[in-house]
Amino acid sequence: MFDSKIGCTFVTSMKTDPNIEDFAASNNPVVRQFSDYLDAHGMRKTTERYAILSHILNISGHFTIEELQQIINADGFRVSRSTVYNTVELLMDAKMLRRHVFEGMQAQYERISLPHTHLICTSCGKVKEVRDPSFAASMNARRFNAFNIDHYSLYVYGTCSTCARKLKRTKNDNGNKRKK
Ligand SMILES: [Zn+2]
Ligand SMILES: [Zn+2]
Repeated sequence: MFDSKIGCTFVTSMKTDPNIEDFAASNNPVVRQFSDYLDAHGMRKTTERYAILSHILNISGHFTIEELQQIINADGFRVSRSTVYNTVELLMDAKMLRRHVFEGMQAQYERISLPHTHLICTSCGKVKEVRDPSFAASMNARRFNAFNIDHYSLYVYGTCSTCARKLKRTKNDNGNKRKK
C-alpha cells in the first residue's frame, strides 16, 4: 500500500523519458557496470538514478553536486538534492566516480579515468587537469613497504596565467599611481 503510493509520487515527479529508458537498457559498458552494481546490492534501478548517470556522462571534467543538479533540472528532470547526492555516493562506491576536495572548495566529482595531475589556482579556484607521463611512470615504478597502491591523486596549488596577469596589472597600476 505504502509502496504503491511512493511509486505514484515517483511517476508524477519524474517525467517518463523514453531516452532514459533506452539509455538504461542500452549496452553502454558504463550503464552495465552501474546496473550490475545495483543488482548486486539489491537496489532499485530507478529512472532517476539512470537520468543522473546519463547527465554525468555528458559532463567533461569536474562537477559539484550543485552544478550536477542544475544541469539535470535545466533538462526538465526534477530530482532532489538528496537523490543526486545519494546516486553520486553509489557511483563512488561502484568505483565509477571519484571525489576531490581541494583546499577551501566544495567537493568536486569526476569520472574515474587515466591518472592525471590537478593544477589548482588559489586565486580563482580554476582546476586544470594535466597528464604527466613521467610522474605516472615514477609512481608506477614506486614500491612501498607493506602497501599496495590502488590509485593516487596529486594536487598542485599555484596561480593560473589569467590571475598572474591580473596580479601583475594591479601591481603595475599601483606602482604608476605611486609615481604620480
Ligand atoms: Zn586563477
Ligand atoms: Zn580531474
